[in-house]
Amino acid sequence: MRAWEAQIIPTEALQYKKIVLRWYLSLKRRIPSYYIERKEKIMIKDDCIFCKIAKGDIPSATIYEDSDIRVILDVAPANRGHALILTKEHFDNIYEMDEATGAKVFAKATSVAKAIKTVTNCEGMNVLQNNGEVAGQTVHHFHLHLVPRFKDDEVNMSWNPKTTVAEEQQALAEAIKKGL
Ligand code: AMP
Ligand code: ZN
Repeated sequence: MRAWEAQIIPTEALQYKKIVLRWYLSLKRRIPSYYIERKEKIMIKDDCIFCKIAKGDIPSATIYEDSDIRVILDVAPANRGHALILTKEHFDNIYEMDEATGAKVFAKATSVAKAIKTVTNCEGMNVLQNNGEVAGQTVHHFHLHLVPRFKDDEVNMSWNPKTTVAEEQQALAEAIKKGL
């Protein structure tokens, strides 16, 4: 028995238990409204251009909008029809983002990709998302690129494939798995 428990005589302990239980139940009841409030007060960064575009404070060529995302045309596209899916909440990058928002972004990417293909008659499409300057990220607010591709369009997204060793790959896979 801990020191503070020894201070409480049985009837007081019961009352204490009741108070805690009441507090817990009232908290449980408040959780749904707390969630809605939090959703309304989404994190926005004042100096972020994509926060302003996502909110609608800066105009954009908008393809789609809901409470979580805005899909716009890139102002300096790799090709005609290059679109960006922006989250309304500010996340610097994928590491900051929760899985539920990620699921919404990728779910919408499927229908937007099909619509871009229909309109532009593109022959292919790259879906990419840059995190960190070294990876080519220039705007530090999460966004997913949908880049329609055409034969000989001179858009480059290539790398020199490196060789692998099966055991090293297994060990690496295990290490990453542990981080999930
Ligand atoms: P990233 O290099 O992955 O950060 O991509 C940033 C993208 O945002 C680039 O393709 C830019 O052309 C695009 N971009 C920057 N400013 C705007 C803007 N005001 N409206 C639409 N797209 C923009
Ligand atoms: Zn932002």
